[in-house]
Amino acid sequence: MPLSVAIIGAGPSGLTLARLLQVTEIDVSITIFERDVSPTSRPSQGGTLDLHNDTGLAALKKAGLWDEALKHLRYDGEELKIGDKNATVLLHHREEPKSKAETGEYARPEIDRELLRSMLLQSVKPKIIQWGKVLQALEPNTGVLTFRDQSTAGPFDLVIGADGAWSKVRPLLTDIKPQYSGICGFTSFINNVNDEYPEMSKMIGRGSYFVYSDRKSFTAQRMGDESVRIAAWVMKDEKYASDVVAKYGKDEDALKQEILGNFADWSPDILRWTQASHGFVAWPLFELPVGQFWEHKKGYTMIGDAASLMTPFAGEGVNKAMKDALELAEALEVALKSDRDIDEAVKNYEQAMFPRATKYQQCTLRNKNALCTENSAVNVLVAFVDMVAEEMGYDLQKGWLAWVPVKTTMYYYASSRQTLGQSSKTLRSLFRR
Ligand SMILES: Cc1cc2nc3c(=O)[nH]c(=O)nc-3n(C[C@H](O)[C@H](O)[C@H](O)COP(=O)(O)OP(=O)(O)OC[C@H]3O[C@@H](n4cnc5c(N)ncnc54)[C@H](O)[C@@H]3O)c2cc1C
Repeated sequence: MPLSVAIIGAGPSGLTLARLLQVTEIDVSITIFERDVSPTSRPSQGGTLDLHNDTGLAALKKAGLWDEALKHLRYDGEELKIGDKNATVLLHHREEPKSKAETGEYARPEIDRELLRSMLLQSVKPKIIQWGKVLQALEPNTGVLTFRDQSTAGPFDLVIGADGAWSKVRPLLTDIKPQYSGICGFTSFINNVNDEYPEMSKMIGRGSYFVYSDRKSFTAQRMGDESVRIAAWVMKDEKYASDVVAKYGKDEDALKQEILGNFADWSPDILRWTQASHGFVAWPLFELPVGQFWEHKKGYTMIGDAASLMTPFAGEGVNKAMKDALELAEALEVALKSDRDIDEAVKNYEQAMFPRATKYQQCTLRNKNALCTENSAVNVLVAFVDMVAEEMGYDLQKGWLAWVPVKTTMYYYASSRQTLGQSSKTLRSLFRR
């Protein structure tokens, strides 16, 4: 009898896992239950995601999707600008050469979330996905799944919650619930930026431009079709963004005024991003507590956001999700091929995943906390030093690096650039008078 596996959710983690289990050629019967009624029923699949070497990219390689991925990965999307509200660029990292993909050097190419999902979707056997199946309840004793349409399925040998932030598998394993992060935002798109706003297009560049000041942030990110996705983040109560979007409905001009009211003294060059964009969506950001875990329960586990939801401020969510899929698939493969206990394999996956999740959560929290300070542009840059060092495998406390004040240097470098930017703005305004 094949091992019967139910994966709840056809997001990046669930699909990566299904694909990996398929390519390992182990005796497994997979069913994915997905809430969306069809692959195209959701109007937007979100923005762009940066994939990292040892997590997202490693999973794609193991899944046999590397050649296909190279058609969609955008290495020029690694261009990164970090600035402040005066549109002073404090750091400008230019794109990495594509050859880094081959050599396995540190790289973070971008891919549209939509393209990633459709590439993964096309890579799994279509008949394994049941669309429009919203899991509502899981009966722990019988293992039967009940869906919103009152249909049932199961029991299965293993049920895997890959159902994201509001997982319906999670309550079976733990009482912990996502908590509001204190930050909410509005995402929107500028479609024809190259033709209609060439100056803005040049300012944003090929990748991401993150702006931080006064506990707020703007993000502009180039998408695969050349459009730009804008996000404006503010520290307001949980309902603020949703209420504002609901209140102004389709009156985008009024909605833009409300959003921009939060950024009154910011450079017009940045505010124009929102003025030029459309299709606003509210995003209250939730997170699970750092270091959360659950007691192992036979027959159930979780991967991705369901297991360790984070805010997007370190860009680790999708990477950690795909790494979870990779590790769980490998654990199941080894166990099945060597006739070992599946339950033990799942337990081992969880024991290795918890500290990994904690590491990503800590990094994300560090970036988020830096964003939530008055001098956020400088503080985020200092936090990025830790993040990049960790990812590149450097320990700033050890060896010769312990003697180099990297973070202090970054602090003074960024602060002085910020002060210069502020002074030139003041000078310009004096001359204009
Ligand atoms: C629409 C969307 C857009 C996003 N955009 C961005 C972005 O622009 N930038 C960024 O950094 N991160 C974004 N994220 C978050 C990021 O994509 C996640 O960190 C990453 O996708 C985690 O993958 P996952 O598969 O664990 O969870 P998810 O991507 O959340 O996938 C979960 C899947 O489970 C399905 N599902 C949920 N509940 C049920 C249920 N009860 N029954 C059945 N199926 C269910 C969902 O429909 C979804 O397909 C986005 C997430 C979503 C859902």
